Amino acid sequence: MRVWSVFAPRPAKCHCACAVRFFLLLKRLLLTTRSNRMSDESLNRNFAPYAADDGEDYMNEAQLAHFRSILEAARKTMMEDIDRTVHAMQDEATVFADPNDRASQESDIALELRNRDRERRLIKKVDEALTRIHEGEYGYCDNCGVEIGLRRLEARPTATLCIDCKTLDEIRERQMGK
Ligand SMILES: [Zn+2]
Repeated sequence: MRVWSVFAPRPAKCHCACAVRFFLLLKRLLLTTRSNRMSDESLNRNFAPYAADDGEDYMNEAQLAHFRSILEAARKTMMEDIDRTVHAMQDEATVFADPNDRASQESDIALELRNRDRERRLIKKVDEALTRIHEGEYGYCDNCGVEIGLRRLEARPTATLCIDCKTLDEIRERQMGK
């Protein structure tokens, strides 16, 4: 039983509970690593950068279609992640009836909820970007109206500000924070 003791610090009451805990831990690790990878900068991880021809119009149909695919694929992945997390949490809620198990489970749930909250905010940003594509505003700075640029959008498909406005914003934020 030495193997199990890594996952269950207290002496195992029954092998069955240990096996379940081990399985759930494994499942959680998979879930956490998966959702941790999803961020503003990783939305495009499965897409090759758009190859623009010389003199091509900024935000033409092909470019918009490229960013729409990135955003829609990211949205789908995140929704599936959230579904999986909810199911995993439901599984655990029914498994752990022991108060000691519940205590550690509650901190785990808090972590899951934080991850989900982060993901939900990112989904909101993705949805807003899709709306901007639909309304023909995608790719232009919200603040000054200049082109955000393919390279910046490629790195951060949900960007709403050009790099200059974003930098100013961050400086202002830092000053307010002091
Ligand atoms: Zn700007």
